[in-house]
Amino acid sequence: MRFNPLVEKFKSYTTVKGSYGIWLNKNENPFDLPPEFKWKVLKELEKIPFNRYPHITADPLREKLAVFLGVNIDNVVVGNGSDDLIPYIIKIFDGDHIVISSPTFEMYSFYAALEGIEVVDVPMDERFNLGNIEDHVEGARAVFICSPNSPTGNVHSREKIISILETGVPVVLDEAYVEFCGSSNMDLLQRFDNLIILRTLSKAFGLAGIRVGYAVASEEIINRILRIKSPFSMNVLSMKIAEMMLENYEIVEDRVRFIVAERERLWKRFADVAFPSEANFLLFRADAYEFLLNRGIVVRQLSGRLKGMIRVTIGSKEENDEFIRAFEEYLDGIRC
Ligand SMILES: *Cc1c(COP(=O)(O)O)cnc(C)c1O
Repeated sequence: MRFNPLVEKFKSYTTVKGSYGIWLNKNENPFDLPPEFKWKVLKELEKIPFNRYPHITADPLREKLAVFLGVNIDNVVVGNGSDDLIPYIIKIFDGDHIVISSPTFEMYSFYAALEGIEVVDVPMDERFNLGNIEDHVEGARAVFICSPNSPTGNVHSREKIISILETGVPVVLDEAYVEFCGSSNMDLLQRFDNLIILRTLSKAFGLAGIRVGYAVASEEIINRILRIKSPFSMNVLSMKIAEMMLENYEIVEDRVRFIVAERERLWKRFADVAFPSEANFLLFRADAYEFLLNRGIVVRQLSGRLKGMIRVTIGSKEENDEFIRAFEEYLDGIRC
């Protein structure tokens, strides 16, 4: 039995959570909803009858998302976070393996292993560019590409993504951080019916706690997912909050602007150890995990090929200032 790596990793943190102040390890948005807006949301939730089942396939939310994205409702499926959709996507295709490109989001491999499906890794090169994935697509269920990629922060080349799509293999393009980079490949859905775009409301939307994610793809793929997905799996409260956030997207845009400006501020400050990023976090070539933890700042400690590096979420102004102070102290310590 293989255990969820995130549960193992975060178990220890949750037991000591009270004693740490600054959480920059999960790429969460540093801001909760603005208080006036949150109050409006709560008033709306009060009107919802809790004794009734939600819509069986969450159509009111699918409809809002479809309008927001400029696609048809039949091209959208929602899940309890986009994580929830990954096992379904793996199940609907045939083939003996999935293809990933490390270092990347760990959940693709986790869910494949859970299904007993082999994972073929075509690692990125030293500049985090995708390798010859096209040579490994034969017999593959799907290729998983994350862009902007976590934990590296870079965007993958559109030409490369197109070249992989042209092989005809199902391609899952995880755009969890797309709002922070401003260039999506969603438009490729018009050219390729083997493309599945995966998105979440957990990062830019700041709704990690309510658990809503979605996939956009051809009607045929969405139907195949709906056919095996548990009915009524989306709860009425989360769906309502997601719908209201989509209607107030300027709140998201404001925060994205702030986070991107802060990311650039931190990147410039530490340009000699920071990789450029188009997401809401930075990858640093610095083994500062323990040092920062001792100062009450929790970041993500990386392993494997990225051993000795940390991934740091962009926080609020105060949190980032605190991180800058502590990280400078760390760098001063190793320089002399
Ligand atoms: C955060 C994240 C997700 C999804 O998170 P959910 O909270 O399950 O929607 C998916 N992919 C990547 C790369 C992420 O970082």
